[in-house]
Amino acid sequence: MRKLKIAVIIVLLVALTGVGVFLIVGPGMIEKSMNKVVAHPPYDISPDARKKHDGLIIMDWHSDSLLWNRNLLKRADYGHMDIPRLAEGNIAIQMFTVVTKSPKGQNYESNSADSDRITSLAIAQLWPPATWSSLYERALHQSRRLHSFASQAPERLKIIRTQNDFITALQMRSKTNSNGSDKLVLGLLGIEGCHCLEGKLENVQGLYDAGYRMISLHHFFDNELGGSLHGISHDGLNEFGRQVVRQLERHEIIIDVAHSAPEVVDDVLEIAERPVVVSHTGVHGACRSKRNLSDEQMQRIAAKGGLICIGYWKGAVCDIRPERIVKTLRYAIALVGEDHVALGSDFDGSTTTAFDTSELAVLTQEMMDDGFSDSQIAKVMGGNSVRFLSSYLPN
Ligand SMILES: [Zn+2]
Repeated sequence: MRKLKIAVIIVLLVALTGVGVFLIVGPGMIEKSMNKVVAHPPYDISPDARKKHDGLIIMDWHSDSLLWNRNLLKRADYGHMDIPRLAEGNIAIQMFTVVTKSPKGQNYESNSADSDRITSLAIAQLWPPATWSSLYERALHQSRRLHSFASQAPERLKIIRTQNDFITALQMRSKTNSNGSDKLVLGLLGIEGCHCLEGKLENVQGLYDAGYRMISLHHFFDNELGGSLHGISHDGLNEFGRQVVRQLERHEIIIDVAHSAPEVVDDVLEIAERPVVVSHTGVHGACRSKRNLSDEQMQRIAAKGGLICIGYWKGAVCDIRPERIVKTLRYAIALVGEDHVALGSDFDGSTTTAFDTSELAVLTQEMMDDGFSDSQIAKVMGGNSVRFLSSYLPN
C-alpha cells in the first residue's frame, strides 16, 4: 500500500513537472515554430539608402505580436517584431492587431467556424480564465498587454487614440535626436474579425474604450456579419453586418476589409461613408493567391480613398524576397496610384518572412534600386498612412 502511494506521488510529480515545463517553454516553442525569418546573410544597405531610410516616417498596418506571451519591450532573438526592433528599423507607427479565434487546419480556401486553436494557446500562456471562453475578453486582454508595455516605458511606446495624440507624438518623436533602439514607437490597436463582438453591437463601444481604432470584419471563417474570404457561405453583409459597419463608422473606427469575402467588400463599399483599408494583403495581378482580392476591387477601394497595405509573406506576394515585395509595390502603384499603397507586414501572424522589422531598410534599398522616386518611397513607407490617420482617427 505504501509503495503504491509513493508510486502515485511520483507519477503526479512527474506530470506536474511536465505541465510546468510546458507552460514555461511551450508557448515560446510554438511561437518559434510559427513566426520564422529565413536564414540570410546581413542585407547590404548603402549609406545613401540608410540615410534616406532614417529620414522617413514609416508605418506598418499589421502585426499580430500581442498574441504571443513575449515581453515586447525586450529584444527577442525569435519572432519578427518587438519595440526595440521597431525602433531599430525606424518604424514610427505600428498597428498592433489582435487575433481572437483561429480554426484548426487554417487555410485560404475553406474553413468552418467550429474549431478554435486560440483557446488552448490562451490556457497554455496562462491568460486570465475569462479569455478561455470569451473572444471579447481576448481582445480586451491583448489591449491591456499593450497598455501595460506603454505604461512601463512611456518614452519608448505611446498608444495613439486620437488625431491629437497622433500629431503630438509624431512631433515628440521628430524632436528627439535619438538614433536606433530608443526611438519612440507610436502604437495603435486593431482587431482581426468582428466575431469578438460576440454578436453584440454594444461591444463596439467597449472595444473603442479599450483603444481599438481599426477593426477588420472577418478572419478565416464566416461570422455573425457575413462571409469570410476563406469561409464556406460566400455571403455578403447581413443585417447585423450592416449595423456593425454603421456603428464602427459612428465611432470613427477604421474598417479593414482584409479576410472578408468579395461579396462583403462590395457591400461595405456601397454603404461605408469613410474610406476602408486592406491592412495586410498582396495584389492578385502580381500574385494569384486566393488570399488577394481582385485587382478591380482594389481599384474601387482606392478610388474611395482607401489604402492597400502590402505584406511580406508568401500567401500575399508569392515570393518573399525583398526585391519581389518591391515588384508587388510597383504593381500596386500602377494599379491604384501611389497615394493608396502602404505597408502591412503580417509580422508574427504565423508567417515566414525574409527579414524582421529591424531590417526594414532593405525595402528602401530595393525601392531605390528599382527606380522608385523619392516621393513614391516616402508615400509608400508611411506618408500615405500619416495622411490617412490624420484624417480618419477620432478628433
Ligand atoms: Zn490576417
